[in-house]
Order: sequence, then structure tokens, then C-alpha cells
Amino acid sequence: MVELSWFDVVRFPSGVTMISEPGHSEDVKSYLVEGARDVAVLDTGMGVGDFAGLVATLSDRNPIVLHSHAHFDHIGASAQFARVRVHASEAGALRAGYPNERFRAWFTPEHLVGNRLPATFDPQRAAIAGCEPDGFLTEGDVIDLGERVLHVYHTPGHSPGGITLVDHAARIMFPGDAIYAGPMFAYRDYSDPVAYRASLRRIAELATQVDVIYPSHNRSPLEPELAQAMHEAYERIWAGRAPDERRPECDVFQFDSYAFWLRPGSYGN
Ligand SMILES: [Zn+2]
Ligand SMILES: [Zn+2]
Repeated sequence: MVELSWFDVVRFPSGVTMISEPGHSEDVKSYLVEGARDVAVLDTGMGVGDFAGLVATLSDRNPIVLHSHAHFDHIGASAQFARVRVHASEAGALRAGYPNERFRAWFTPEHLVGNRLPATFDPQRAAIAGCEPDGFLTEGDVIDLGERVLHVYHTPGHSPGGITLVDHAARIMFPGDAIYAGPMFAYRDYSDPVAYRASLRRIAELATQVDVIYPSHNRSPLEPELAQAMHEAYERIWAGRAPDERRPECDVFQFDSYAFWLRPGSYGN
């Protein structure tokens, strides 16, 4: 039986379906993009509930998983799909999966919203299975779904293998975790604030060619102007804007609906 209590499903125009997990504070989003032959599965959720079963009820096309990156909250059900692609730099994380001792820390009460965790999900035992990709996503790739193509842009920074997908014909963009309404934790060991600067500039440019941005967390869809605003805000930081708060491990720059958390000394001209 497909466990649906964990997921919210929203169908958008242009053959895009959003699968949200609002029962967790991460508020992660995955997307289906329908072609005539294949359905692109943009990430596979955080490993709660029957994501693959849900996808099968939402599309009768042949699924191909295209990973925005391989952080645990985006690879939950990848092992259940036959065709899975990720940027080569994060293939190791995808293969490793996510063990229970790290996974269960994400299911303490402060992470949960409402009471949506399926009865069949036991945080004390659950883990994310590793998955062998059947191919890699590389800058310049064009993924043909049948009468529809997705263009692959390598946009590292949040993580080394971050991918932005653009459907130029439908004027929509999927930036993964490179852009979202919320704090951008660019001080972690997997982040690269310099690479992120170039990626934000690039995404802001690409955003001028789309009407809608579908991010992988929090409010969605987003207006393309937000990409431009985030790029300009980040540039102000590099030009010397003072942090709003200095914490031991990071400087916090707060803007309207987003923020950047950066390691002291890791940014600035
Ligand atoms: Zn991430
Ligand atoms: Zn994420």
C-alpha cells in the first residue's frame, strides 16, 4: 500500500508535479517533469514513506532520477529506481546512503511538524540505502524526456555537485539547493563560498530566461526576481556589507526571505 500521509502533492502547469514533505522542518520538495516518454524525477525525498510508490501513482512514464545533489534529504528513495543520475563529484555520497546513526538525529521532536510521520516509519531503525548511479550529470548535458528536454548546468557551492536544470521551452528552472527562501548554510565543510558566488551569478542570468523557479526547500514556486536579489545581496557581502550577527562558527547575513551563513574569513574581496 502506498503511504500517502507524509506527502503533499501539487500539480503545476507545464507537466510539473511537486511532492512536498511538510511534516519535517526541512520542508523538502521533489519534482516530476513529464515528457512524452520519460518522467524526470528531480530528487527522491528524505526517506520517509513510499516515495517510489507515490511516483508510480502520479506518472505512467518511465522514471529517470536526476539529482540536484546527494545530500541525504534528496536521495531517500533513489535505490528503488533503475535509472539514477548525479554529478560525478557526489556519486560517493549517493553510493554511501545515510546510516541510521546519522539519519535518526533528524527525527527528534524539534524537527517534526504536526503529526504526519507514518506509523510504519521507525526512526530508531530507518536508514537510506546506498544507490549506484547508472550515469552522471555533467555541465552541458541535455536530458531528452521525449518531446521535452532539460538542460544541465553545474552550479556548485552549496555542495560540489550541485545541478540546476532548466526547461528553456517551458521557461522553468530547478536550482536544487542553490536558491531557496531560507538560510543558506554556506559555512559547512561541504560548501564552497567562492564557487557559490559564480553559481549565483550564473543562476541569476539564467533566471532572466524563465518565468518560474522551483526550489528544493520551503516556499515554492519562487519568482525569478529572487535569484537576481540573492545574487546582488551576495555580491554586497563580498563588497564588505557587515554581518547582522557573528556566531562562533559563522557570520549571519539576514535579508528579507533568505540569509547567508558564512565562515569568517571565507568570503570578501
Ligand atoms: Zn543540500
Ligand atoms: Zn536540501
